[in-house]
Amino acid sequence: MIPVKGYAAPQAKIPLGPFKFERREVGPHDVQIEIQYCGVCHSDIHQVRDEWGGSIFPMVPGHEIVGKITKVGDHVTKFKVGGLAGVGCFVDSCRTCPSCLAGLEQYCDVGMIGTYNGRDKEGHPTYGGYSNQIVVDENYVLHVSDKLPLAGVAPLLCAGITTWSPLQEWKVGKGHKLGVVGLGGLGHMAVKLGASLGAEVTVLSTSATKKVDAEKLGAHHFVVTSDPEQVKAVQGTFDFIINTISAQHEYNFYLQLLKLDGTMILVGVPPEAPQVSAFNLIMKRRRLAGSLIGGIKETQEMLDYCAEHGITSDVEVINIDYINEAYERMIKGDVRYRFVIDMASL
Ligand code: NAP
Ligand code: ZN
Ligand code: ZN
Repeated sequence: MIPVKGYAAPQAKIPLGPFKFERREVGPHDVQIEIQYCGVCHSDIHQVRDEWGGSIFPMVPGHEIVGKITKVGDHVTKFKVGGLAGVGCFVDSCRTCPSCLAGLEQYCDVGMIGTYNGRDKEGHPTYGGYSNQIVVDENYVLHVSDKLPLAGVAPLLCAGITTWSPLQEWKVGKGHKLGVVGLGGLGHMAVKLGASLGAEVTVLSTSATKKVDAEKLGAHHFVVTSDPEQVKAVQGTFDFIINTISAQHEYNFYLQLLKLDGTMILVGVPPEAPQVSAFNLIMKRRRLAGSLIGGIKETQEMLDYCAEHGITSDVEVINIDYINEAYERMIKGDVRYRFVIDMASL
């Protein structure tokens, strides 16, 4: 077994602290990665606090992983020692169901195996990227460009693909008005990617102080949702809204901003179930949809697109012992725009 250092939550709602554990030896199809950076996703907070139910403790969160390949198994063909690699939100799936065969492993009929807070095929708990080493089957590992700053690439593995996938699925681009609700980790990537694909992007935020940043990130317009005049001006105007809000909120408020046949895509996962008024949907044939991260093939396409277009996340790099404070700041919406842990601080 391989000894690993990490940070774990011992129980729900208890602060994270140092934790030692072991990972499997590198098998014939495995890649061992020395983790250099790991992004901090709001899903880490939801799961550490057991807000979605069923959390497994101790929990080593982290699914925005980048680092250097230090060992590969005998049958590995896609990766070489010394190269850069990434790991996102899942490390395995059944590989045989229609979703897996279509490259949509995140929608696996049996259930994808989460990078953390999951169980592998032997039933052992999976541990994530707040750690210095990880071993993953090569089919679930991504190639990472050495042309981009690595800390800024880490968040692409979740925040990037989670916003890229719906933009691709709904073919969002030139001629579309795109609303991005919530300017955090996912939101700021939705702005960068949506603008890069040619959409006219409006950020809808509770934080007036984020206006200047929104424009720097590529947004064309900014609406403070507490200002009724600004909200009225965008009623019935959006083709698409990507909703990234992590906490309970009023879905009807945002649905009214869609035009005829407009679609609001939920990516944020507040723990509480929302109430939706049928009138808000039927009066303009609006659609309410959801989207979960992205498959391995699409994640690689997104990483390649970002490398080609020089797109990375705007990050605040932190030492791992700052993680509990980072969570508190994220809950207040005070992140610009992704915390990324420098694993050298472990
Ligand atoms: P984040 O960085 O904390 O950003 C969330 C943003 O939502 C905040 O910055 C804030 O933006 C806004 N917000 C927070 N509380 C709000 C409230 N009560 N009312 C209105 N707006 C509020 O979180 P994240 O990492 O982007 O994740 C966002 C959500 O997506 C989480 O629920 C996470 O679990 C989920 N997620 C889903 C997937 C998927 O596959 N679907 C993947 C990753 C994450 P403003 O300051 O601009 O208002
Ligand atoms: Zn995530
Ligand atoms: Zn499957």
